[in-house]
Amino acid sequence: MQVPLLRLQCGVNSYDWGKVGPESAAARYAATTATPDFSIDAEKPYAELWMGTHPSLPSKDLETQRTLLDMVQDNQALMSTEVSQRYENKLPFLFKVLSIRKALSIQAHPNKKLAQRLHARDPQNYPDDNHKPEMTIAITPFEGLCGFRPLQEVSHFLNAVAPLRQLVGEQAAAQFESAVKGSEDSEDVAVVQRNKDALRAVFTALMNASPESIETAAKELVAAAEGSPATFATSATTPETNPSDPAKLAAIAVRLNNQFPNDIGLFVFFFLNFVELAPGEAMFLKADDIHAYISGDIIECMASSDNVVRAGFTPKFKDVDTLTEMLTYSYAPIEAQKLEPTDYPYAVLNVPAYSSASSCMLYDPPIEEFSVVKTDLYRTGAKATFDGLAGPSIVICTGGSGKITVGHKTEEIREGYVFFVGATAECAIENTGTKPDEENAFTTFKAFCDLTGKEDMVNGH
Ligand SMILES: [Zn+2]
Repeated sequence: MQVPLLRLQCGVNSYDWGKVGPESAAARYAATTATPDFSIDAEKPYAELWMGTHPSLPSKDLETQRTLLDMVQDNQALMSTEVSQRYENKLPFLFKVLSIRKALSIQAHPNKKLAQRLHARDPQNYPDDNHKPEMTIAITPFEGLCGFRPLQEVSHFLNAVAPLRQLVGEQAAAQFESAVKGSEDSEDVAVVQRNKDALRAVFTALMNASPESIETAAKELVAAAEGSPATFATSATTPETNPSDPAKLAAIAVRLNNQFPNDIGLFVFFFLNFVELAPGEAMFLKADDIHAYISGDIIECMASSDNVVRAGFTPKFKDVDTLTEMLTYSYAPIEAQKLEPTDYPYAVLNVPAYSSASSCMLYDPPIEEFSVVKTDLYRTGAKATFDGLAGPSIVICTGGSGKITVGHKTEEIREGYVFFVGATAECAIENTGTKPDEENAFTTFKAFCDLTGKEDMVNGH
């Protein structure tokens, strides 16, 4: 039987928000395995490298030029029969590298039930009937908007930022303030629900503002941000905002408006948490969580789906009614959105790895479709050996150089190389770089699906 290690050829798409030319990690990675006619155009944006079987941009086996979808459908053992059956012979997850130069649309991804409804009603704008929980891990410093701010912050901005209050309307703003005042931190289920309803009402009022009023308000807001950033500052009686530095906050508002002039997204910014991730930090977005990415290179993993409900920062189809209706309206500080990695217990580090503080960290969101392990090996000869899994994996290298071994097959792996590793196969990666430890990092991300121990989720609880 063939060794289940396939080097993949992965495509990159060119959305307008992507980083330009070789600045884009997605483009550089794609170039290492691209078709012979691919070369990086210095003027062109490159947004997303796709690794998986999704039909919009399917990966191929480099050697045979067959699609990965073809390969796993031909040989169910590559994904395990359990995973193959459960996911109709497709990879359960879609693994991506995103290189973000300017804000992506403000969006949320529908849960399974809603996805089925939207797809049935409007298959052109909602191409899948699947849900799309997604996880982001920063490769370079990342900025984004994610989930609703704590309610005190929303109240503060409604007070401090006059153009925002105008857009929302005095009545909606006042109703929100009186509904949540004093109960912002309550954990009582009924109170939290009442607060979410109040947040839904005021946010829906904002999202339904007329284009003319948005334009007027945006001009006022930018004038204030450029003229007196102190407008956004908090006082002794108001909570810290995020970011807390009013000048930084004003600068972000100005930058967003330069990217998308007079867009409702500029005002949505005051409702959502501003999240910064350092390399290696991660966040997880459940179905129906609102978010917008702003800048950075990231690894993204999601259930295999392409369903997006958009409502701002985009020239694409917007569906404000669906978005305002579907959102969870969970409000929490940014710490609650971040996902802490833990030590991955199913890999063994050798002595050079262990003694150079190399690591295997697991990012394990509460869903069945995927988890990701980040491995940093710092010393020449440092090696991590992964136990076989009851499902498929995809490995990408984001820095350094090494080799990857499955059975009797060993291949070179360096920045941008992508491999598929079949179910049950033990897999080893080893650093072959020759620089001093501190400059010798060999970094890989491995996305995988293993349903073992996830019976609860599989059964839908
Ligand atoms: Zn998204």
